[in-house]
Amino acid sequence: MGVVAVAAIVAGCGSEPVAQVKDTKAEAAAKLQKTKAAKVAAAAKAKANELGQIPVLMWHRIVDKPATTDDRTPAQFRADLERLVKDGYVPVTAAEMVTGKIDIPAGKHPVVLTFDDSSPSQLTLDGTGTPQPGTAVAILQEVAAKNPGFRPVATFYVTRDMFGKTNRDEQAQMLLWLKNNGFDIGNHTRDHHNLRGRTHQQVEEQIGGIGKEIGALSQVKPVTIALPYGNQPNKKEWAARGNGYKHAGVFLAGYTPAPSPFSRSFDPLGIPRIRAMDKKGDCAQFCSTAWLDWLKGNPDMRYTSDGDVATVAYPKFKAPFLRKAFKTYALPY
Ligand SMILES: [Zn+2]
Repeated sequence: MGVVAVAAIVAGCGSEPVAQVKDTKAEAAAKLQKTKAAKVAAAAKAKANELGQIPVLMWHRIVDKPATTDDRTPAQFRADLERLVKDGYVPVTAAEMVTGKIDIPAGKHPVVLTFDDSSPSQLTLDGTGTPQPGTAVAILQEVAAKNPGFRPVATFYVTRDMFGKTNRDEQAQMLLWLKNNGFDIGNHTRDHHNLRGRTHQQVEEQIGGIGKEIGALSQVKPVTIALPYGNQPNKKEWAARGNGYKHAGVFLAGYTPAPSPFSRSFDPLGIPRIRAMDKKGDCAQFCSTAWLDWLKGNPDMRYTSDGDVATVAYPKFKAPFLRKAFKTYALPY
């Protein structure tokens, strides 16, 4: 919010001040100019591009013997994360991304790690409340511990299959563990039905049902939703707002990196995600390995942070792509 105050001061300089305050004002303006110049220099040094694209990666089950093309083995999942570390990515949650709170160091790139269907392979706790080795959460925590700066955060899109728990106390335990350990809980509808073609009431029951349940169990109100099969309801707004829920972002399945939330092409009602998978078969071009290779080869298209969460920094020539709502935060260089 510091940025808003700064903008107000700058605007105030346009009016004719009385002579006495003029000096102080001039000093303040000079100081401001200096700060801004330093920020611009830092952004340029980091080659910041906060209008660039963000990979939102999607995993399902992490299991030793993959049974579907969505499954990854623990070793593959670990390799997925290690590649992100190597490429300079830092995880942010889906909630942070859609609300523009991308607070990562200068020169780093945000990545959103998402897990669908709340399966036990993602989170199972042992008798002491520690994630079982080999689960997605345990592997993410291990990789983060070995690589300082790689935040162990992710978004879990939950259905009524709450990590395999049927007892309400155990369900609450799982959700509260995620909440208390900095993870983000998202809505994935109650029964995982395809919402396309369903009535408004059915859509509200599916989304609101699990939304209220998550709230009752953990006092968390999901900020985002991921649609089953990536299919939008007949009116896409139904996924965002309804009886018992209000989402700032609706995630699809999708096959491309997502636009930055500060970019004009960002559509909060349809944010694409990328399946985490090697470059083979139907994943030769449109899954995670292929896209991460592409983003690495096209650094000007990728989101790179300037390290300052309060500004939206970008090379000047990209100015037409800035979303109007973020004009106040703009730091072109
Ligand atoms: Zn799903």
